[in-house]
Formats: sequence, structure tokens, C-alpha cells
Amino acid sequence: MVGAGAFGGWIALYLLRRGARVTLLDAWGAGNSRSSSGGESRIIRGTYGPKQPYSRMSVRALQLWKEHEQRWNVQLLHRTGVLWMATEGNDEYERCSLPVLREAGIAYQELSANELVRRWPQINFDGVPWGIYEPGGGFLRARVACQVVLDGFLAEGGEFRLHAVQPNGLEYGCRDGLLVSDGSKLIADKYVFACGPWLGNLFPETIGSKVSATRQEVFFFGPPAGDDRFSETNLPVWADHGDRFIYGMPAGDGRGFKVADDTHGPEFDATSGDRTASAEALQLARDYVGFRFPGMKNAPLVETRVCQYENTPDSDFIIDRHPRAENVWIVGGGSGHGFKHGPALGEMVSESVIEQKEPDARFRLSRFAR
Ligand SMILES: Cc1cc2nc3c(=O)[nH]c(=O)nc-3n(C[C@H](O)[C@H](O)[C@H](O)COP(=O)(O)OP(=O)(O)OC[C@H]3O[C@@H](n4cnc5c(N)ncnc54)[C@H](O)[C@@H]3O)c2cc1C
Repeated sequence: MVGAGAFGGWIALYLLRRGARVTLLDAWGAGNSRSSSGGESRIIRGTYGPKQPYSRMSVRALQLWKEHEQRWNVQLLHRTGVLWMATEGNDEYERCSLPVLREAGIAYQELSANELVRRWPQINFDGVPWGIYEPGGGFLRARVACQVVLDGFLAEGGEFRLHAVQPNGLEYGCRDGLLVSDGSKLIADKYVFACGPWLGNLFPETIGSKVSATRQEVFFFGPPAGDDRFSETNLPVWADHGDRFIYGMPAGDGRGFKVADDTHGPEFDATSGDRTASAEALQLARDYVGFRFPGMKNAPLVETRVCQYENTPDSDFIIDRHPRAENVWIVGGGSGHGFKHGPALGEMVSESVIEQKEPDARFRLSRFAR
């Protein structure tokens, strides 16, 4: 198993539980700061628009996140709820999400403008005629969770090595095993690559630009001292789905109030790209926060992150075998929404790998040929 991010860590764990002997490799470690999973927090929600498998997957994932919190006796999920602000004249995504939420059995409340203002007076709901509140959603402790999953994997008998797999020969189906950074070779019956934004480098022909990394900037602002209006006791995770899709979450885990713009940034090199936040993106975030959360206007910036999405052209994941090798699996393309699904995806992929089960057509590489 190569890659110990949200996808690879959980896949490795579930492969182990299906009886495989698993060696997990990662170039820089589980939840490292170059990886897409290496942020402080990631949202888990069921609202996902129409005709997609992700609402249901997130139900299963949420169940598994909770089960593992109990099993490992550690908090992974902050149960803040998730608020979707539907914008005037641009609420198709939210409208189309409602029947899917119902079908998936996800609890939600449809809230009027008056109800929104009554419940969250610290938010300026200008231009937001209604909203969806998912009480069961929240945010996950992203990089911490990756490390906890690795600990669980080790405790159940897995082996981990801090090694980088070299790209040599991978496109020919790993026939001679994997060449790793210490010069040794690793031979296995099956290989699974969950290398996030690096998949295109490892498989230039099969993946190449089908997974593109974009620069995404995240800002954390410090709420006023002693003011809990912006903490997780009083504010849910929120998503403001207007012309741009801006989202964020309350101050939690001792970090600040997080704000990010989901718009895809420029291409980014996940290995050596500069992770200094830009002045322009900071200004946009400041202007937005001052408008939507007036009590946070002029709040100081306390932290920044520059991460990368690993986008497929249709934002659907990739789960498939290498076209030239039945025993080589490629998993990735989280496209800015993969983290939450980690455990459900791990369960599903491990079944495909061990039982030789066909992956869902939606995730297969052949869709790009159409
Ligand atoms: C700013 C931002 C916000 C996001 N918000 C959300 C959110 O709110 N909710 C949500 O569900 N998702 C969100 N996502 C998306 C989610 O974080 C990703 O889809 C997910 O983390 C991808 O996980 P992964 O395991 O595929 O990739 P990664 O986490 O990148 O893991 C890949 C691993 O492979 C290793 N690796 C790479 N090459 C090699 C090699 N040659 N040899 C050995 N190891 C190698 C790397 O070190 C890395 O650890 C967000 C992403 C970003 C950047």
C-alpha cells in the first residue's frame, strides 16, 4: 500500500482486516504537511447536490468515524452541525440536495431567513433567503486522524515504512516490484497506490493530468478575547454557496476561525511548491469575513495553510486497476471533498482488491475515454 493519507491509511487498515499482510509506505508520513490530508480540519456533510453517490457514502463514513472514535478512545469528529447558506437566485445545488438527503436518511432542517437570523445572530444573512442545517455533520481532525489511523493499523499488525516509491516501471504493472528510496525492492501480490496529488507523476501515462493539483489557501482568524460567538459551542461549520463557494468552521481545537475559498487555484507542485499564503487571497478572505461575520471584522490572522486539491476533470474519485495490471490499483482524485469518505472508501476499496470486485463505473478510468 503506497500513501498514508486519508485514502491510503484507511485502505491499508481494511485490507489488514480482510486478512491481507500489509506494508504501508509513505514518503513523508501519515498526514504530513505536503499531503492533501495534512490540514487541521476537514468537513463531513451529506449535502452534495443531485445524482451522486457521495451523500450515501458520507452516511457510512460518519458511522465508521464514530465507531473508530469509540474503538480507539480518541476524538476525531467535532459534532458542530453544518449550515448551508442558499443564495438568492443561485440555490439549485441546495434544492436538489434535499431529496437526496431524504433518500439517504440524513437528518436536516430547512430553515427560513427568520429562523437563520434567530439561531445565529452573529452571522449576517444578507442575500441568504434560506438554508439547510445538518445537525449530524461537523469537522474531522484531519492530520491527527491520519496519524491515529496509522496507529490503529500498526496495533492490528500492519507494517509501516517511511519510504518513497520511485516511479520506475510502474506503468508496466510493477512486474519487478517497487523500487524504494533506500534502494531496496519490495515485492507484493497486489499493489495499491493512493498517492493523492502525486498520482500523475507516478503514472504519467495512465493518470498524468487526470489528477491535477491546485493551490488552495486557508486562513485562520482569531476571535475577540473571551468571545464565544465564533467557537464551536455557538457556531456550526458553514458553507456559503454563492458565486464563489466559501466555507469555514468555528474556532476549535485551539485554532482560529477557519475560512477558505473552494474556487480552484493555479496549478501547484505538492513536493516543492511555496506554501506562503498570498496577500490577494488574504484580502478576499478578510473582506468576506467582515461582511458575513461582522463581529470578526478586522480580526487578526493567526495562521495560514496552503494545501492542494487533487482534482479529476469531473471531481469524481478514481478507484480502478491499472489498465496493464490486474494486481495494481490506483485510488485518488479526492477533488477537494475526499477526506470525509476515508473509512467508507477504505472498506469499499479493500473489498474490491481482495475479492476482485469490479469498482463502480463512476470511479473507473474508462470514463475519461468517453
Ligand atoms: C484546503 C483543503 C480543504 C479540503 N476540505 C475538505 C473537506 O472539508 N472535506 C473533505 O472531505 N475533503 C476536503 N479536502 C479534500 C481532502 O483533504 C482530500 O481529498 C484527501 O485528503 C485526499 O487524500 P489522499 O489520501 O488521496 O491524498 P494525500 O493526503 O495527499 O495522501 C497521499 C500520500 O501519498 C504519499 N506519497 C505520494 N507519493 C509517494 C511516493 N512516491 N511514495 C510514497 N508515498 C508517497 C504522500 O506523502 C501522502 O501522504 C480538502 C483539501 C484541501 C487541500
